[in-house]
Amino acid sequence: MSIESDLREAVCRTGASLFNRGLTHGSTGNISVSLPDGGWLMTPTGSSLGTLDPARISKLDGSGRHVDGDAPTKESFLHTTMYAERPAAGAVVHLHSTYSVAVSCIDGIDEHNCLPPITAYYAMRIGQLPLVPYYPPGDKALAEAVGSLAGRHHAVLLANHGPVVAASTLSAATDAVEELEETARLFLLLEGRSLRILTDTQVADLQKKFKAP
Ligand SMILES: [Zn+2]
Repeated sequence: MSIESDLREAVCRTGASLFNRGLTHGSTGNISVSLPDGGWLMTPTGSSLGTLDPARISKLDGSGRHVDGDAPTKESFLHTTMYAERPAAGAVVHLHSTYSVAVSCIDGIDEHNCLPPITAYYAMRIGQLPLVPYYPPGDKALAEAVGSLAGRHHAVLLANHGPVVAASTLSAATDAVEELEETARLFLLLEGRSLRILTDTQVADLQKKFKAP
């Protein structure tokens, strides 16, 4: 149980950190982590990431069935779809973070890669970021659209909604989604300027050194 207890605490600590820094608001955003037995812990439906209770975190078995704690987020399928396509992933974080959502609303954005490689850390932690077409929250078509990309991409941006990022650990997923949010912010700050982005060779070199699960 100690691994599970530690993970419950880590989910709550991470949620509070993200919420307190304004990276998601109200009861938006959700976090999940893989359990050693094949199931998952997930933040509950309607919960604020700022006030999570370790004892009430939702627990799902390996088939995605709710087995303990409060009912899981209505967006649980975003997480289970990511894990289905990326079995090595240890955590998934989904936020409604302001600058990433802003980028997801830009008409005509490159749907194959929403943000250019402005910095080395963005290239390492996110790399390519495809846009998932808009579907209403909870629509199963959204899960299918995420599933069609998740095998090739550990990070996707839901149109008019926000990012979903998988990584080997919760801290790596959090670092990556924060890097995405800061890059979205830089991208918008630099709007109208001529950008000197990293070259394909520079990006490929970085990605060789850091491979997402
Ligand atoms: Zn959402």
